[in-house]
Amino acid sequence: MEPKKVLIIEDEKNISDIVKLNLTKEGFNVDTAFDGQEGLDKALGTDPDLVLLDVMLPSIDGFEVCRKVREKSNVPIIMLTAKEEEVDKVLGLELGADDYITKPFGLRELIARIKANIRRTVMAGDIGQTPSSNTTDYGNLTIDGDRYEVRKNGKPLELTLREFELLRYLAEHEDKVFSREQLLEDVWGYEYYGDIRTVDVTVRRLREKLEDDSSDPKYILTKRGIGYYFKRP
Ligand code: CA
Repeated sequence: MEPKKVLIIEDEKNISDIVKLNLTKEGFNVDTAFDGQEGLDKALGTDPDLVLLDVMLPSIDGFEVCRKVREKSNVPIIMLTAKEEEVDKVLGLELGADDYITKPFGLRELIARIKANIRRTVMAGDIGQTPSSNTTDYGNLTIDGDRYEVRKNGKPLELTLREFELLRYLAEHEDKVFSREQLLEDVWGYEYYGDIRTVDVTVRRLREKLEDDSSDPKYILTKRGIGYYFKRP
């Protein structure tokens, strides 16, 4: 298999260097960018398998880079945020990041996250490998596991991979209520690192794209005090 390419967008050279060194040791092909504009150009122009994106960057900040990349690409994005900036995590996810990790981070955790996020993409590329990789209709909603596409009334929705997987997972288990922790484990694929707000933000983003009125959802419903479930409208 071709080595997976990770693009590191980080202006602090010592952090960039050590992450690059460790990812290279792990067999990744690593490219680096040291400001937001260079990062944006490389993210859109060099077809990376994953982007590691710092928030505080010269020229264009990480949030703006994230937003601009998302207009054109569904590449997995992990944001690097400062520990004290709780708001940053949620903002990054709302702009379309798939995950975030707070500084200072452990390299083992970072590598585990990168692998978990790339693995999801690789699985997404293995067309027809799993029984779920089919097309299923849920009323006026069609989830196409072969094309990784969701269509509502025949019109494709622009979902990130994570949004797609969350929706597909909930739909495959129609009417079953999942806790946020369970969804984090089953859809995000790791047990200990994630923050349950990641689930809430992704659900919110998904509803905005999926529902006629995201404040009165018909597909992804909240079970108060427990979690979320999918219902065929
Ligand atoms: Ca920085």
